[in-house]
Amino acid sequence: MMVIACPFCGPRPEIEFSYGGDASLSRPPEDGKQEAYLDYLYLRDNPRGWHEELWVHRHGCGAWISLRRHTVTHEIGTCRYAGDARRPGGGEEQGR
Ligand SMILES: [Zn+2]
Repeated sequence: MMVIACPFCGPRPEIEFSYGGDASLSRPPEDGKQEAYLDYLYLRDNPRGWHEELWVHRHGCGAWISLRRHTVTHEIGTCRYAGDARRPGGGEEQGR
């Protein structure tokens, strides 16, 4: 089991968190090219190695966290508060 260090609550088991997606993606403008928006919504890389991800501390403080995770070893690197800036509407969740 992974242990994620929430910047507000400290180390907690991964079952308290939900995965929020690739932190390196940026949403294209909705009035832009449809292909770019479809790629953003449906196409994902499957990297091997270190990856920047968004997680939300769903069963804790509710904060969005940006962390580095190794996709093979599940080692957790840096964890930092991601803020609401990445979520239009101030914290809208994505995915699970
Ligand atoms: Zn927390």
